Amino acid sequence: EPELRFDDVHFAYHPDRPILQGLSFAVPAGRTVAVVGPSGAGKSTLARLLFRFYDVQAGAIRIAGQDIREITQDSLRRAIGIVPQDTVLFNDTVEYNIAYGRPGATHDEVVQAAQAARIHGMIAATPDGYATRVGERGLKLSGGEKQRVAIARTLLKNPPILIFDEATSALDSANERAIQQELQQAARGKTTLVIAHRLSTVVDAHEILVMDAGRIVERGTHARLLAQG
Ligand code: ADP
Ligand code: ADP
Repeated sequence: EPELRFDDVHFAYHPDRPILQGLSFAVPAGRTVAVVGPSGAGKSTLARLLFRFYDVQAGAIRIAGQDIREITQDSLRRAIGIVPQDTVLFNDTVEYNIAYGRPGATHDEVVQAAQAARIHGMIAATPDGYATRVGERGLKLSGGEKQRVAIARTLLKNPPILIFDEATSALDSANERAIQQELQQAARGKTTLVIAHRLSTVVDAHEILVMDAGRIVERGTHARLLAQG
C-alpha cells in the first residue's frame, strides 16, 4: 500500500482569503489517520484537492512519493476510494448499486464485496449473475444500509487508499456505531484517511490530527486527545 502525504499545501478559493496555509501530514502505508476539526476548518477542501477538483497552489499532495498532478485522472480514481457522508443510490437493486461503474464486475465479486460489507443477506446468489437484478431497491434502504452499499461499492473497487469523508455523520447513533465497525474492518491494511468533525466518531486511528483554520493545530492518539477534552 502507498503512503499518502500532504507537503506544505497551500490553497485559497479567493486570493485574499487563504484556506489551507501550509498543511502537512502523512498517512503511512497501510495505516489509518484521522483529521478532525470544526466546521470551516478546511476538511472538505482537503478532500477536493485530493481528487483534483482543484489543484494545490503551492506544495504538493503525493501518493507513494508521486505528485498527484503527475498521475492520470484514471489512475488517481483507481488509487483512491471514497465513502462519502450522503450516499446517493439509484432506484435499482443493491447489487446493481454495488457494481455501478464497474461493468466488468462478476457476480462473485459483487457478492464478495457485499459480504465484506455485511449485506450479503440482500444479495441473491443466482447462477445467472446479478444482471437478474433481484433484491432490494436502493431507495427502500435505511441510512445505515445505504452506507453499507457505499462501503461495498468501494471495496469492490479494491483501492489501496480509502477516504472516509464524514461517512457516519448522517446516521443515528446505533447505526453510527455499527457502520464505524464496518469501516474499521474495511480499513485494515489499507492506507486510510478518516475525515470527521467530532473525535467521538473516529474509532481506531493510529494518529489523530486536529485541524483548525487550515492548519494542523494538535496531533496525538485518541486516548490522549480525549483525556484533554
Ligand atoms: P470543513 O469541511 O472543515 O467544514 P471547508 O473545507 O468546507 O471546511 O471550508 C473551509 C473554508 O473554505 C470555509 O471558510 C468555507 O467557507 C470556505 N469555502 C469552502 N468551499 C468554498 C468555495 N467553493 N468557495 C469559497 N469558499 C469556500
Ligand atoms: P470511481 O472513480 O471508481 O467511479 P467513485 O464512484 O467512488 O469511484 O467516485 C468517482 C469519483 O468521484 C471519485 O474518484 C472522486 O473523484 C469523486 N467523488 C465521489 N464522491 C466524492 C465525495 N464525497 N467527495 C469528493 N469526491 C468524490
